[in-house]
Amino acid sequence: MRPLTAHIDLDALRHNYRQARRYAPDARAMAVLKANAYGHGSLACAHALADRASAMAVACLEEGQALRNSGIQCPIVLLEGFFELGELDTVITDGYWSVLHTRWQVEALLDRLERWPQHRVTVLVKCDSGMHRLGFAPEEVGEICRLLRSHPGVEQTLLMTHFATADTPDSPLLTSQLDTITTLQRQLDLPGCFANSPATLSVPASRHDWVRPGVMLYGVNPLEPDHALHGEIDQALKPVMTLESRIIAVRELAAGEPIGYGARHVTRHPTRVGVVACGYGDGYDRHAREGTPILVDGQRAAIAGRVSMDMLTVDITGIPDADIGSRVTLWGRDVSGAVLNVSEVAQWCDTIAYTLLTGILPRVPRQYH
Ligand code: PLP
Repeated sequence: MRPLTAHIDLDALRHNYRQARRYAPDARAMAVLKANAYGHGSLACAHALADRASAMAVACLEEGQALRNSGIQCPIVLLEGFFELGELDTVITDGYWSVLHTRWQVEALLDRLERWPQHRVTVLVKCDSGMHRLGFAPEEVGEICRLLRSHPGVEQTLLMTHFATADTPDSPLLTSQLDTITTLQRQLDLPGCFANSPATLSVPASRHDWVRPGVMLYGVNPLEPDHALHGEIDQALKPVMTLESRIIAVRELAAGEPIGYGARHVTRHPTRVGVVACGYGDGYDRHAREGTPILVDGQRAAIAGRVSMDMLTVDITGIPDADIGSRVTLWGRDVSGAVLNVSEVAQWCDTIAYTLLTGILPRVPRQYH
């Protein structure tokens, strides 16, 4: 077998869910499992959390049905709601909790409920409190909620919003979003569901009745490095995915020799290069710059040369014992205990941990522990 595996530590996932509960003890926690649980495998993650998650959140009905059909019983929230009228009967009869962010969704749902007098739904009314992506303007929310609450087919209405800058210390936008949504919540007296991972961990005023942790469940610290709680959260969370490969070839190069496509890297001194079975065809980011860290037998090394489709190259000059078969950790926790955070790798790729994790392609087998 090609030596590339994404090891998924389900105990770490459960530990991180516990951390969400610890930081928001008075709220119920909706585990965000969209995008195949951020690349970790939504079914395995859902079942690992099934005995404790109060609800699970996915982007769309197809993702929700995959969980339901595999036996998940808790409420399943559709974070983008439904997209077409054809989804509505299933949303209603199978009891999905739908986010409503546009007027046509509200009208379509209320209309379709007439067909199903024996069913009652739970909805989350999304307010655009300042992110300006999905949601009703704050002035519209009261009317929408009154419409929904007065309908006999609506069992429960939650108020929802999403924060744009909860990871950033002293963000004026976060303060303004919080003011807007808490004022509305006080007026409407509805259960609130506002906090993503950074807000769950660091903004007590955002927690209310429900929190919606996503990336923190996978062990990624969602706070900016200059945030006062950054160090504490680093200690609190455990990485869930370890992307592990092996060295499959070694080159001994003299000074002045190029490595890889475009001959971008030219050795400055005699260099040992390890060829690793992982490339952008597996979802590893091709933008990983020269110097991107990687662990070889638990020791830090750096990428040299461009990432190619099925391979990448690493300078192992400083690790004399490294050879064909040596263990390579692209990110996560090496068996020696050494940790390379996916967020650190993401910085070298000019991206965020979310894209690296969700980007790991199906050809990489997931192994659950
Ligand atoms: N809620 C909504 C509406 C989202 O879109 C997301 C993720 O993008 C989350 C919650 C979870 O966010 P995070 O992964 O930052 O915790």
